[in-house]
Amino acid sequence: MTDAEQFEAVVVGAGPGGAAAAAVLANNGIETLVLERGVEAGSKNVSGGLIYAEQSAAYTVDDLFPEFREGASERPVTRNHMDNIAGETVHTVDLKGVHEHDTEWCDSVLRRPMDAWLAERVHEMTAETGGGLLTDVRVNGLLWDDGEIVGVTCDELDPIRADLVVAADGVNSELARAAGLMDWDEPDEWFQGVKAVVDVEPDVIDERFGIDEDEGVARLFGGDLFDGVRGGGFLYTNRDSLSIGTVFHLDSLADERAEPHELLDNLLTHPHLGQWLPDEYEEREYSAKLVPDSKKVAHGSPHRDRLLLVGDAAGQMQAQGPIIKGMNHAVNAGGLAAEAYVEAKSRNAPHRAGERYETKLREEGVMDKLRPTRYELSRPLSESGVVTGALDGLARSAVGRFGVRAVGGLTERVFNSPFALGMLPDTHTSYVTVPTILAEELGEPVTSENDADPPTLEERIGELTYDTDVGNPHIELRDNSYEASGVAVTACPVSADGFGGGCYREETVKSNGSEERVVSLDTQPCVECGTCAVVADTTWTHPRGGKGVEYDQG
Ligand SMILES: Cc1cc2nc3c(=O)[nH]c(=O)nc-3n(C[C@H](O)[C@H](O)[C@H](O)COP(=O)(O)OP(=O)(O)OC[C@H]3O[C@@H](n4cnc5c(N)ncnc54)[C@H](O)[C@@H]3O)c2cc1C
Ligand code: SF4
Repeated sequence: MTDAEQFEAVVVGAGPGGAAAAAVLANNGIETLVLERGVEAGSKNVSGGLIYAEQSAAYTVDDLFPEFREGASERPVTRNHMDNIAGETVHTVDLKGVHEHDTEWCDSVLRRPMDAWLAERVHEMTAETGGGLLTDVRVNGLLWDDGEIVGVTCDELDPIRADLVVAADGVNSELARAAGLMDWDEPDEWFQGVKAVVDVEPDVIDERFGIDEDEGVARLFGGDLFDGVRGGGFLYTNRDSLSIGTVFHLDSLADERAEPHELLDNLLTHPHLGQWLPDEYEEREYSAKLVPDSKKVAHGSPHRDRLLLVGDAAGQMQAQGPIIKGMNHAVNAGGLAAEAYVEAKSRNAPHRAGERYETKLREEGVMDKLRPTRYELSRPLSESGVVTGALDGLARSAVGRFGVRAVGGLTERVFNSPFALGMLPDTHTSYVTVPTILAEELGEPVTSENDADPPTLEERIGELTYDTDVGNPHIELRDNSYEASGVAVTACPVSADGFGGGCYREETVKSNGSEERVVSLDTQPCVECGTCAVVADTTWTHPRGGKGVEYDQG
């Protein structure tokens, strides 16, 4: 083995999970080095994003970083509603119950400023223990000794040995894969999120949403405006912008051959949104990323040797109906992983940190939030094709519609029940049919108009900042047949059928009188969302260090 630097702990990734782990380690005097591949922390990150401080969590972001709300968040989110949409009819449900359930506070955030703020604090804290935080360093693998993980290897630095390696490297975790701990690779185990940040003056936000400057609003959208794709939309108020986006089950997006940017535009241009958008529509940033579906993939035992996975790298992103919580779980898990190491070390058994972390995730109730037992038990029945078909038919029938009208008042209770949401089946009935019927049967006509004219896909990707990987592509197409990789032509958020400027396009190759439909790849505008790693036949890795897309908002 080559000479290696030695730190007691190495944390890979400076998102909320990595920041929390590093803070707890540093607070306990552990020499900690944090490595982040972005040119600045947050420059690679995307979130909706509402960050929650849960009452039941062992660690919240303001426990660890007391000035967080003043320094890094946008607005306290005080109202939360779900709009079920059918055509131009809307049925609104107040989500106050579920929004305030187990909640100390909830703020809207933008990831570039938030993560950069956290990184400054983390650097100060870890420097005191002899470590620090380095950006623009990509960890490219694990350091092994006699078949055991003992550290990490990087593009830019010599290998680093450590007694503890925390992989907080997000949804496309290279470390989880290298350790054989990321065993999910099917499209139904992921969501894809696509988002636009829209410029709006603060006083226009206050006036249009009827709020004060220290209040904020969250709205979620479901129904028939997303071409039957399972998932929904969101709108969150920031200080002087709106975050508007969509999150869909990746298998549904692939099955419907839907184009993410078009579904986002369906939301942005819907008349219902006209009441909140500014007179002049100006988009600051377009972004996209995959997120794991914790119900299916949150790892019950996310560790191996000295390596502990936290946050998205461990599949810990909770999306259950209108509940979307990933950042808070990443913080909690990061804190618990660090605490587990500190305790194991104090018992002269640092190698037992992983087991302690696993126990804490279970005993603190984190696993049950992420993978509710009731979902696992009810899923075989509630998501079977036969049952879904029957329920869909029933919901659409005269009897079903009569039932919706009769129990209309109960819908608010269901939408606000964390118990019911924890076993919500991932089916067309839940995501599309029921919201549409609620709007048709109980909704009011939309009265606002919407003149928003979102940029084209070409304009959107033209506005993003790139350092391309020409000559050293981070994605290779292994099978360019349309059958193997054709889904990427539509599901890639910067490609589209008939649009030549994205990453993937379809071509017809003629040879010896025969024609073949093939897929071509050109990763120039890649936003590193990870979609094609799941839906196409590729070898996909992160681009090197700070290379690739750099988000300003996130
Ligand atoms: C559209 C969308 C909407 C969402 N909405 C919400 C929401 O409203 N609320 C919520 O709580 N969550 C939301 N999420 C999920 C949330 O963003 C994630 O769950 C959360 O960011 C996970 O945090 P993390 O620290 O595990 O990983 P990340 O935040 O992804 O951080 C990983 C870090 O590791 C770095 N990194 C990766 N690989 C390497 C490497 N090899 N070497 C060095 N550094 C590396 C990355 O640059 C990054 O900084 C949303 C996600 C999306 C995409
Ligand atoms: S090329 Fe792949 S990783 Fe890049 S934006 Fe398209 S789908 Fe996402």
